[in-house]
Amino acid sequence: MARYTGASCKLCRREGQKLFLKGERCYTNKCSVDRRSYAPGMHGQQRKKLSEYGIQLREKQKAKRFYGVLESQFRKYYEMAIRRKGITGENLLQILESRLDNVVHRLGFGVSRDESRQLVTHGHFLVNGKRVNIPSYLVKPGDVIEVAEKSKKSPRFKEILEVTGGKVIPKWLEADHENLKGKVLTLPDREDIDLPIQEHLIVELYSK
Ligand code: SF4
Repeated sequence: MARYTGASCKLCRREGQKLFLKGERCYTNKCSVDRRSYAPGMHGQQRKKLSEYGIQLREKQKAKRFYGVLESQFRKYYEMAIRRKGITGENLLQILESRLDNVVHRLGFGVSRDESRQLVTHGHFLVNGKRVNIPSYLVKPGDVIEVAEKSKKSPRFKEILEVTGGKVIPKWLEADHENLKGKVLTLPDREDIDLPIQEHLIVELYSK
């Protein structure tokens, strides 16, 4: 599966804000956005006024980077969002949030979406009792996500929970950290998604 393998911090600096792509480091003073709040590259310190198209494009790039999704997949989600009832932009965010790697991260079983994706790919999670190693798997209300029995002994999960243990679990999910288990109660509404994304700009961009 194709994915971005370059430097994560550059993506944050490009967007001019923290995208929390590296887990623990993002909460320390080592964060590159805190240390160098300008875009990477030779012309990074020059401030350019963005066109309307540029603003829409940046918003889409930011959303893709938050969720670690490449263009073709993101476009597919947009097409799915159009076909669903309701507001397209909100549907798009709901689909992105329903990805298994995001849900694992939201439940606190991965410090970042990137780590969660890796843990899913390596077969550490079951959905409704069956191993699912596809990060883009879309969860549904009622789905039970749990760490596979063998993986429960891995010291990594203990370390992860030390970092994420105090984290607020969104109300559309239920987490049982003691048993390394979680449940999808419902799909998220817009107000459940705390990411600073203006989804209407993405819809405007794709509607051109
Ligand atoms: Fe982004 Fe985290 Fe790197 Fe900071 S440390 S620039 S939030 S990936």
